[in-house]
Amino acid sequence: MPLAMREMLQKKISWLSLSPAHILESVKKDTCKAIVELSDGKRVETVLMKNARGQWTVCVSSQVGCAMACTFCATGSMGFTRNLLADEIVDQYRLWTAFLYERAEDKGKAERISNIVFMGMGEPLANYDNVKESIRLLLAHTDLGPTHITVSTVGLLPMLRKVLRDPEWPAVRLAVSLHSADAATRKAMMPSSFDTFLEDLIIWTAEYFEKHESRRRHLTFEYVMLSKVNDTEHHAEALIRFARRVGKVRINLIPYNFTGSVYRDSLPADFARFEALLKDAGVTVTRRRTMGDDIAAACGQLIVEKKA
Ligand code: SAH
Repeated sequence: MPLAMREMLQKKISWLSLSPAHILESVKKDTCKAIVELSDGKRVETVLMKNARGQWTVCVSSQVGCAMACTFCATGSMGFTRNLLADEIVDQYRLWTAFLYERAEDKGKAERISNIVFMGMGEPLANYDNVKESIRLLLAHTDLGPTHITVSTVGLLPMLRKVLRDPEWPAVRLAVSLHSADAATRKAMMPSSFDTFLEDLIIWTAEYFEKHESRRRHLTFEYVMLSKVNDTEHHAEALIRFARRVGKVRINLIPYNFTGSVYRDSLPADFARFEALLKDAGVTVTRRRTMGDDIAAACGQLIVEKKA
């Protein structure tokens, strides 16, 4: 393109729909968090983490704030401001791609982003259309396949049912934030829950597998471990019963990251007992590695103070 045209494009069309206000790096250098500013001045956070394969996973936000108000989550305490546009989601990935490129000594060998998780601020299924469009764009314009993208949801059942009926919903991995298989405990932790949630989720899961047997390995239930709240023997038994009813799925235990809430993380002995009870019952269980907690970039710690 002629120089004049390039200059005009640069002036009129911004390269990114967001700009990084701060980038923080963890002491271990395996996690970076960016606070980014959107065109209307609102701010969200996005995280870059080194994964087990030595490549990078980007954690994207899907909303400014969140309406779900989960009691253990920092984002939940800030309330909901607005949905992110598809471009604003995709640009979190583009920001980190550029960051890794800038950082590489040999530009031909910039490190690769191999996974994207929708586990930042916001409830992705409450922003269904824009999240779906952002995934479409990512699949069309990057080297990522659908099983390298994970959408994590609080379990918005009407939207989970929509996923089931929507032929255009991509074959991405889904993670459902279960956090308790005891209805009363779950409701106390997550105001979006309700008495029949677990029963309805079991029915939804059965339908999901009926429709997409091949996606069984790509559905996970997340479980944040809160001391004496959901990590007792009673809760392990409820979770085992739940897991038996939904069939073979993976339970991902998440160590609680401190957010100033009333909760404390599970004592190591309680965590180990809970994990052992599940394993002994034949439930597939994994433990999430905590990363970036020194820069408040870990799960549930993403919050941006409202500007005065
Ligand atoms: N709204 C989506 C994405 C949220 S963040 C959802 O609810 O799934 C991704 C995961 O981090 C969720 O499972 C969420 O429940 C969990 N999480 C929230 N606060 C946390 C905390 N303080 N410590 C550990 N995990 C937390």
